[in-house]
Amino acid sequence: MQRIGIGYDIHKLVEGRDLIIGGVKITHEKGLLGHSDADVLIHAIIDAMLGALALDDIGTIFPDTDIKYKDIDSTILLKRVFDLIQKKGFHIVNIDSNIIAQEPKMMPYIPKMKTQIAKILELSADDISIKAKTKENMDAVGMKLAIEANAVVLIEKN
Ligand SMILES: [Zn+2]
Repeated sequence: MQRIGIGYDIHKLVEGRDLIIGGVKITHEKGLLGHSDADVLIHAIIDAMLGALALDDIGTIFPDTDIKYKDIDSTILLKRVFDLIQKKGFHIVNIDSNIIAQEPKMMPYIPKMKTQIAKILELSADDISIKAKTKENMDAVGMKLAIEANAVVLIEKN
């Protein structure tokens, strides 16, 4: 049996924060604002994984009112949700995703993101697609005020 899930996330770009996307630190003068490390891509993937099993979303499972998630490395949360999927007797088949950012350029960091995520989810880097898009200078993302991500995850019963 296979099940599919979709995930979406957006975080505001602000000064004085590190920019971490897909578990990789990206050189930029701004970073994403959030209770955790605000890793927009990992959050979208987590929500897609949870969605595939019709579980509660990331904000319910890891509430931003809980001090223990303050500035937490989102790859730790990803690992926890993967454990949940495994406990339910599923594995991940593949992931497709988009990072939508006007700047900086994501391309140079994507191979490292794939390696990081593949390691945690026990996948090959070939099972993970990460595409970089811009908003053609339109809306909040296009005006460099925020970065968005979408993800689709297919899971399968062992
Ligand atoms: Zn988020």
